[in-house]
Amino acid sequence: MIFTKADDIRLELPRAAIEAIFDECDRYNVDETGGRILGTYKNAGRQLGISVSGVIEPGPAAQRTQTYFKQDGEYQEKIFRKVEDLVPDIEHLGNWHTHHVNGLRHLSGGDIETYRRTVEHANHNTDFFYALLVIEKKPGQTGLQRYVFKNYVMRRGDENVYEVPASNVTLVDSPLVWPASETHSRIQQAARSSEAYARASKKETRPELIDDQEVIAQFFPKVKMLQSKELGIYWRGKIVLADGSETEVVVLRDTAEPFECSVTLREPTEALEPVVKTLGKATFPSGRTALIATERVCNAQLVSAFSGKKRRGRLWMF
Ligand SMILES: [Zn+2]
Repeated sequence: MIFTKADDIRLELPRAAIEAIFDECDRYNVDETGGRILGTYKNAGRQLGISVSGVIEPGPAAQRTQTYFKQDGEYQEKIFRKVEDLVPDIEHLGNWHTHHVNGLRHLSGGDIETYRRTVEHANHNTDFFYALLVIEKKPGQTGLQRYVFKNYVMRRGDENVYEVPASNVTLVDSPLVWPASETHSRIQQAARSSEAYARASKKETRPELIDDQEVIAQFFPKVKMLQSKELGIYWRGKIVLADGSETEVVVLRDTAEPFECSVTLREPTEALEPVVKTLGKATFPSGRTALIATERVCNAQLVSAFSGKKRRGRLWMF
């Protein structure tokens, strides 16, 4: 197997990513294991800069033997979509797996075949495939010294298998998007608390509408709560007045907080004309207060008309 030295490929690896990979290696001493590598890249002609920023674990349904390893793709896809939501420009850069368990110190023919198919596949997002291969366990060593690994890149439309020389690999201290680093959990926390806030504020407006609905259904049974795209929530229907007549009322509720309500009388009788103008200027804190006030002011108007007294159409503000 001949590997080509890749002078025009540079690789940036966070120490936390290597640590995550080595931790997984520690768990599988006999069988092969591996995972997906996430990050970003920059392309300029033949120059390629790969920057790793995450490692997805193999997943609960991964299959392993000493010479065979298959990742749990369904699980990894789910994690990838989650990370993508938080970091939209993230890419699946490639894979990592282990050979120190079988003694092969480079990619196998099968590995190369698989990666070749991947990099040439129409659904593969980038025109390269990055592979990190753990080739040796160093007994007695700790930390980032306990395993030895190599870095390979395959490019679309290019038969070579490139090995990135150690001089082109830079170790950095940047945090990972996955597995959950501090930054990552901070982003998640912020997302969770804004969700909780949205739920809480939704909750606060609910009792107001429920109270409205209970009171209105009981005291104004002919008035129905309706909803339209244009108007939002509103009520419409007839209210029964003191003289036994009915008048049709529309209560509009503002679509934004504090959700004030306003009232319109539909085709009011001549007797109710004086209250129409007053009602048109008033706002109410809820649908039920709007309807109660309307009923009262209409009744007051009817009574004053009946008793022959001129009465100012004043509203009780709630
Ligand atoms: Zn392999």
